[in-house]
Amino acid sequence: MSKILIVEDEPQIARFVELELIHEGNSVEKAEDGRTGLDMALATDYDLILLDVMLPGLNGLEVLRRIRSHKETPVILLTARDAVMDKVSGLDAGADDYITKPFAIEELLARIRVALKRHGAASFSTRQITVGTVMIDLDRHEVQVGDQPVELTNYEFELLRILMENKNIVLDRDHLINEVWGYDFDGETNAVDVYIRHLRTKIDDRFGIKLIQTVRGVGYAIKEDCL
Ligand code: CA
Repeated sequence: MSKILIVEDEPQIARFVELELIHEGNSVEKAEDGRTGLDMALATDYDLILLDVMLPGLNGLEVLRRIRSHKETPVILLTARDAVMDKVSGLDAGADDYITKPFAIEELLARIRVALKRHGAASFSTRQITVGTVMIDLDRHEVQVGDQPVELTNYEFELLRILMENKNIVLDRDHLINEVWGYDFDGETNAVDVYIRHLRTKIDDRFGIKLIQTVRGVGYAIKEDCL
Protein backbone atom coordinates (compact mmCIF):
# COMPACT_ATOMS: atom_id res chain seq x y z
CA MET A 1 0.00 0.00 0.00
CA SER A 2 1.33 3.39 -0.94
CA LYS A 3 0.50 6.72 0.63
CA ILE A 4 -0.33 9.30 -1.99
CA LEU A 5 -1.04 13.02 -1.80
CA ILE A 6 -3.19 14.67 -4.46
CA VAL A 7 -2.83 18.44 -4.77
CA GLU A 8 -5.58 19.51 -7.14
CA ASP A 9 -8.07 22.36 -6.98
CA GLU A 10 -10.64 20.76 -9.25
CA PRO A 11 -12.66 18.63 -6.83
CA GLN A 12 -14.09 16.31 -9.47
CA ILE A 13 -10.68 15.36 -10.83
CA ALA A 14 -9.26 14.98 -7.33
CA ARG A 15 -12.17 12.80 -6.24
CA PHE A 16 -12.04 10.62 -9.34
CA VAL A 17 -8.32 9.96 -9.00
CA GLU A 18 -8.69 9.44 -5.25
CA LEU A 19 -11.34 6.73 -5.75
CA GLU A 20 -9.21 4.93 -8.33
CA LEU A 21 -6.16 4.98 -6.09
CA ILE A 22 -8.12 3.77 -3.07
CA HIS A 23 -9.58 1.03 -5.24
CA GLU A 24 -6.00 -0.04 -6.01
CA GLY A 25 -5.32 -0.33 -2.31
CA ASN A 26 -3.56 2.96 -1.62
CA SER A 27 -4.23 5.53 1.04
CA VAL A 28 -4.91 9.02 -0.23
CA GLU A 29 -4.87 12.52 1.19
CA LYS A 30 -5.88 15.65 -0.68
CA ALA A 31 -5.12 19.34 -0.73
CA GLU A 32 -7.01 21.93 -2.77
CA ASP A 33 -4.43 24.69 -2.94
CA GLY A 34 -0.67 25.00 -3.28
CA ARG A 35 0.03 26.29 0.19
CA THR A 36 -1.85 23.48 1.94
CA GLY A 37 -0.30 20.94 -0.41
CA LEU A 38 3.20 22.18 0.38
CA ASP A 39 2.59 22.06 4.12
CA MET A 40 1.26 18.51 3.90
CA ALA A 41 4.09 17.40 1.61
CA LEU A 42 6.68 18.68 4.06
CA ALA A 43 4.93 17.41 7.18
CA THR A 44 4.30 13.85 5.97
CA ASP A 45 6.45 11.36 4.06
CA TYR A 46 4.26 10.39 1.13
CA ASP A 47 5.29 7.68 -1.31
CA LEU A 48 4.16 9.89 -4.17
CA ILE A 49 2.58 13.28 -4.84
CA LEU A 50 0.27 14.14 -7.74
CA LEU A 51 0.64 17.85 -8.19
CA ASP A 52 -1.50 20.07 -10.38
CA VAL A 53 0.42 22.97 -11.91
CA MET A 54 -2.36 25.56 -12.04
CA LEU A 55 -3.23 25.96 -8.38
CA PRO A 56 -4.57 28.83 -6.31
CA GLY A 57 -2.27 30.26 -3.66
CA LEU A 58 1.05 28.85 -4.72
CA ASN A 59 1.39 27.31 -8.17
CA GLY A 60 2.47 23.72 -8.63
CA LEU A 61 5.95 24.50 -9.91
CA GLU A 62 6.67 26.68 -6.90
CA VAL A 63 5.31 23.97 -4.59
CA LEU A 64 7.58 21.48 -6.33
CA ARG A 65 10.67 23.67 -5.96
CA ARG A 66 10.02 24.11 -2.28
CA ILE A 67 9.41 20.39 -1.75
CA ARG A 68 12.66 19.63 -3.59
CA SER A 69 14.72 21.85 -1.33
CA HIS A 70 13.71 19.52 1.52
CA LYS A 71 12.87 16.07 0.20
CA GLU A 72 12.93 13.64 -2.71
CA THR A 73 9.31 12.47 -2.68
CA PRO A 74 8.39 11.37 -6.22
CA VAL A 75 6.17 13.98 -7.88
CA ILE A 76 4.01 13.61 -10.98
CA LEU A 77 2.78 16.93 -12.39
CA LEU A 78 -0.69 17.34 -13.84
CA THR A 79 -0.32 19.92 -16.58
CA ALA A 80 -2.74 21.63 -18.92
CA ARG A 81 -2.81 20.44 -22.48
CA ASP A 82 -0.09 21.91 -24.70
CA ALA A 83 1.55 23.72 -21.84
CA VAL A 84 5.03 22.89 -23.10
CA MET A 85 6.67 25.36 -20.77
CA ASP A 86 5.10 23.65 -17.78
CA LYS A 87 6.59 20.32 -18.75
CA VAL A 88 10.07 21.67 -19.31
CA SER A 89 10.14 23.80 -16.19
CA GLY A 90 8.44 21.00 -14.27
CA LEU A 91 11.15 18.51 -15.12
CA ASP A 92 13.77 21.18 -14.44
CA ALA A 93 12.23 21.79 -11.04
CA GLY A 94 12.56 18.11 -10.20
CA ALA A 95 9.32 16.44 -11.27
CA ASP A 96 9.64 12.71 -11.92
CA ASP A 97 7.03 12.76 -14.64
CA TYR A 98 4.07 14.71 -15.89
CA ILE A 99 0.76 13.90 -17.45
CA THR A 100 -1.40 16.26 -19.49
CA LYS A 101 -5.07 16.83 -18.80
CA PRO A 102 -7.38 15.35 -19.77
CA PHE A 103 -5.73 12.02 -19.07
CA ALA A 104 -6.86 8.42 -19.19
CA ILE A 105 -6.87 7.05 -15.67
CA GLU A 106 -5.08 3.89 -16.80
CA GLU A 107 -2.22 5.98 -18.10
CA LEU A 108 -1.97 7.90 -14.86
CA LEU A 109 -1.98 4.67 -12.84
CA ALA A 110 0.73 3.23 -15.09
CA ARG A 111 2.91 6.31 -14.59
CA ILE A 112 2.35 6.16 -10.85
CA ARG A 113 3.45 2.52 -10.83
CA VAL A 114 6.62 3.37 -12.73
CA ALA A 115 7.46 6.27 -10.42
CA LEU A 116 6.85 4.17 -7.31
CA LYS A 117 8.89 1.28 -8.64
CA ARG A 118 11.74 3.63 -9.49
CA HIS A 119 11.70 4.88 -5.94
CA GLY A 120 11.38 1.41 -4.49
CA ALA A 121 8.14 2.18 -2.72
CA ALA A 122 6.11 -0.51 -1.06
CA SER A 123 4.14 -2.81 -3.32
CA PHE A 124 1.83 -1.09 -5.72
CA SER A 125 -0.07 -3.40 -7.96
CA THR A 126 -3.25 -3.05 -9.89
CA ARG A 127 -3.46 -6.77 -10.18
CA GLN A 128 -4.02 -8.19 -6.75
CA ILE A 129 -6.97 -10.32 -5.78
CA THR A 130 -7.86 -10.86 -2.16
CA VAL A 131 -10.24 -13.34 -0.61
CA GLY A 132 -10.31 -13.31 3.17
CA THR A 133 -6.67 -13.40 4.28
CA VAL A 134 -5.46 -14.84 0.97
CA MET A 135 -3.89 -12.43 -1.52
CA ILE A 136 -2.60 -13.27 -4.98
CA ASP A 137 -0.41 -10.76 -6.84
CA LEU A 138 -0.54 -11.43 -10.56
CA ASP A 139 2.30 -9.06 -11.45
CA ARG A 140 4.72 -10.38 -8.89
CA HIS A 141 3.52 -13.95 -9.15
CA GLU A 142 3.22 -14.12 -5.39
CA VAL A 143 0.72 -15.53 -2.95
CA GLN A 144 0.36 -14.52 0.67
CA VAL A 145 -1.86 -15.66 3.49
CA GLY A 146 -1.86 -12.88 6.05
CA ASP A 147 1.75 -11.73 5.88
CA GLN A 148 3.12 -15.22 5.16
CA PRO A 149 4.38 -15.98 1.64
CA VAL A 150 3.25 -19.24 0.04
CA GLU A 151 5.47 -20.95 -2.53
CA LEU A 152 3.51 -22.42 -5.44
CA THR A 153 4.53 -24.16 -8.66
CA ASN A 154 3.35 -22.59 -11.94
CA TYR A 155 0.36 -24.89 -12.34
CA GLU A 156 -0.66 -24.47 -8.72
CA PHE A 157 -0.43 -20.71 -9.12
CA GLU A 158 -2.48 -20.71 -12.33
CA LEU A 159 -5.15 -22.89 -10.80
CA LEU A 160 -5.39 -20.63 -7.77
CA ARG A 161 -5.46 -17.57 -10.04
CA ILE A 162 -8.42 -18.88 -12.06
CA LEU A 163 -10.35 -19.71 -8.91
CA MET A 164 -9.57 -16.34 -7.30
CA GLU A 165 -10.46 -14.40 -10.45
CA ASN A 166 -13.79 -16.21 -10.52
CA LYS A 167 -14.42 -16.10 -6.82
CA ASN A 168 -17.91 -17.14 -5.73
CA ILE A 169 -18.36 -18.98 -9.05
CA VAL A 170 -18.25 -22.78 -9.26
CA LEU A 171 -15.88 -23.92 -12.02
CA ASP A 172 -16.04 -27.44 -13.43
CA ARG A 173 -12.98 -29.58 -14.08
CA ASP A 174 -13.04 -29.15 -17.87
CA HIS A 175 -13.09 -25.40 -17.51
CA LEU A 176 -10.16 -25.49 -15.10
CA ILE A 177 -8.20 -27.87 -17.34
CA ASN A 178 -8.70 -25.59 -20.32
CA GLU A 179 -7.71 -22.50 -18.39
CA VAL A 180 -4.67 -23.93 -16.67
CA TRP A 181 -3.29 -26.55 -19.05
CA GLY A 182 -4.84 -25.43 -22.34
CA TYR A 183 -7.20 -27.08 -24.78
CA ASP A 184 -4.64 -29.57 -26.04
CA PHE A 185 -4.23 -31.13 -22.62
CA ASP A 186 -4.35 -34.90 -23.07
CA GLY A 187 -3.90 -36.04 -19.47
CA GLU A 188 -6.55 -37.18 -17.04
CA THR A 189 -9.10 -34.71 -15.72
CA ASN A 190 -8.08 -35.79 -12.25
CA ALA A 191 -5.03 -33.53 -12.73
CA VAL A 192 -7.31 -30.83 -11.35
CA ASP A 193 -8.04 -32.86 -8.24
CA VAL A 194 -4.35 -33.56 -7.76
CA TYR A 195 -3.43 -29.88 -7.96
CA ILE A 196 -6.37 -28.86 -5.77
CA ARG A 197 -4.94 -31.25 -3.19
CA HIS A 198 -1.55 -29.55 -3.47
CA LEU A 199 -3.15 -26.15 -2.92
CA ARG A 200 -5.08 -27.43 0.07
CA THR A 201 -1.91 -28.80 1.61
CA LYS A 202 -0.02 -25.57 1.07
CA ILE A 203 -2.81 -23.17 2.02
CA ASP A 204 -5.83 -24.72 3.76
CA ASP A 205 -3.93 -27.21 5.95
CA ARG A 206 -1.05 -24.88 6.74
CA PHE A 207 -3.20 -21.90 7.71
CA GLY A 208 -6.24 -23.73 9.04
CA ILE A 209 -8.71 -22.21 6.60
CA LYS A 210 -11.12 -23.67 4.06
CA LEU A 211 -10.28 -21.68 0.96
CA ILE A 212 -11.23 -24.08 -1.79
CA GLN A 213 -14.71 -25.57 -1.67
CA THR A 214 -15.62 -28.81 -3.42
CA VAL A 215 -19.02 -28.64 -5.06
CA ARG A 216 -19.96 -32.27 -5.43
CA GLY A 217 -20.59 -33.39 -8.99
CA VAL A 218 -19.69 -29.98 -10.38
CA GLY A 219 -16.23 -28.74 -9.53
CA TYR A 220 -14.52 -26.24 -7.28
CA ALA A 221 -15.02 -22.72 -6.04
CA ILE A 222 -13.45 -20.13 -3.79
CA LYS A 223 -16.22 -18.48 -1.86
CA GLU A 224 -15.74 -15.30 0.05
CA ASP A 225 -18.42 -16.08 2.62
CA CYS A 226 -16.86 -19.43 3.52
CA LEU A 227 -13.79 -17.77 4.99
CA1 CA B 1 -5.95 23.49 -11.48
